[in-house]
Amino acid sequence: MKAFAGIDLGGTNIKYGLADSEGKILTSKSKPAHADKGRSEILKRLEECARELLEYAFENKLNVPYVGIGSPGTVDADRGKILGVSPNIPGWGGTNISTRLEERLKTKVYVGNDANMMAWAEVLFGAAKGYRNVLCTTVGTGIGGGVIMDGKLVIGSSYSGGEFGHIPIVKDGKRCNCGLKGCLEAYAGSDNLIAIAKREIKAAGSRSKYKGSLNELTVRKILDLFKAHDPAALKAIEKQAGYMATGFASVIHLLNPEAIVVGGGIAEVCGADYIRLIQKALKQYAFEDALKGLKVLKAKLGNKAGFIGAAFQKEEI
Ligand SMILES: [Zn+2]
Repeated sequence: MKAFAGIDLGGTNIKYGLADSEGKILTSKSKPAHADKGRSEILKRLEECARELLEYAFENKLNVPYVGIGSPGTVDADRGKILGVSPNIPGWGGTNISTRLEERLKTKVYVGNDANMMAWAEVLFGAAKGYRNVLCTTVGTGIGGGVIMDGKLVIGSSYSGGEFGHIPIVKDGKRCNCGLKGCLEAYAGSDNLIAIAKREIKAAGSRSKYKGSLNELTVRKILDLFKAHDPAALKAIEKQAGYMATGFASVIHLLNPEAIVVGGGIAEVCGADYIRLIQKALKQYAFEDALKGLKVLKAKLGNKAGFIGAAFQKEEI
C-alpha cells in the first residue's frame, strides 16, 4: 500500500506522521524542535523524524514515494532550500534541507512553506475539499496563508506568494514581526488581540467578567471570556475579525476565491460565532457580488494540517 510521509517544523515542536492515499492518518507524533539550538540540531531532528517514519513504513510494508517537509520562512520549493530570514528560527535562512536529508536518507525530500502546506491539506482533505480556488489562513502570534487557484498552490515567482499576514492594512502602521510596518499580522495577530482586549476590559470596568491582572491576560483567557459572553472579549474578537476581513477583502478583490478557510485558536474555540463576525465585517469591505458565492469556513485538520499537506505536496487534485 502507498503511504505519504510528512514533517511539520515549528518554532517549538516538530509534528510528523504518515497518511494513506485518502489522507487518513496511520501514525503521528510530535517532538520538541529545539529551534534555539541552531541549524545543525534542527536538521538532525528532522532526519530522526524522517527515519522513524520510513522505518514505520518499512515494517508495515508501506511504499513511501518521498518525504515532505513544511518549514517556516520563504522556501525555494524547487531546491528544498530556506531563503532569507526566519524570525522564529535563528540561523535557519540559507539551509538546504533537501540536499542534506536526501544524502542521508537515500529518499527524495521536498520542502514547502508551512502555511502553504496547511492550506494544501485543507483543500485536499479538510474544510475546503472539493474547492479549487481557496484562501487558507491560520491565526496565532503570526498569520499564515496559502492560496490555491485552479487547483494549484500559488507560490509565486520567487516563492513569496500567499504571505497573507503581511498584506499592509495601515500605511506607516504598527511594526510587524517581519520588520515591515502596518502588516495585517501586527493588527490581527495574538499580540495585538491581547492589547485590544486589555483596553476593552479597562473600558468595560465592572461590566467585564475578567477579574484577574491585565498583565496575565492571554489569548486563551480572552477566548474563554468570549464563550462566557463577556462584553469586552466580544468587542476585542469583533475588532480582530474586522482586521481579518480587511485582509480577506484584498484577496477577494484580487482573486475572487470560492472559499476562505480560517484556522488557529480563535476559529477553533469561537467557531460559528467568529465566522459570523468575519462575514458581517466583510460586507463593509468587499463587493457584494464577490461575497455572494463565497464560503467562509473553519479549518478542519487542526495542527495536523501542516504535516499532512507536506506529505502530499507533490500530489495533484
Ligand atoms: Zn509583516
